[in-house]
Amino acid sequence: MSTKKLSAGDIIESRCTKCREVLNHRIVAMVEGKVVRVECNTCNGVHNYYPPVSEKEAKAPRSSAAVKPRAASSASPRVPRKDPLEAEREEWASLSPTFDYDKALHYNMNERYPVKRLINHTVFGIGIVKAVVTPNKMQVLFKDGAKLLRCQS
Ligand SMILES: [Zn+2]
Repeated sequence: MSTKKLSAGDIIESRCTKCREVLNHRIVAMVEGKVVRVECNTCNGVHNYYPPVSEKEAKAPRSSAAVKPRAASSASPRVPRKDPLEAEREEWASLSPTFDYDKALHYNMNERYPVKRLINHTVFGIGIVKAVVTPNKMQVLFKDGAKLLRCQS
């Protein structure tokens, strides 16, 4: 094992922000023994140092038990909990058996509908009024998800 310390001017592998590859870079700046800025030997671009992702890490299967789930406190906004549309469809599926289809009113944007009223929309089909969102818009849950429809204010 080499214990050689890196210093400015040394060549190190880094991911290049321009080449988008792991390439040899020359160390430009170091702070407290850590490489901070590097210059790409390929494109000569100077950028922050991005350590190359190890093969092990890149190829590890996602389901591996060794991969610890992220702490709940660290925000990971890229992972949606659940598709909202999926949730709406499930809600429709759970509500629809209780629908009295005979009572569904043909949707007319010049009408005002109370919450829980069943309506029949020419395009979306049977839906149930979930809420009046703004004075002239209501949220209606259809088989294919919730839609905003005009209504009389
Ligand atoms: Zn480069």
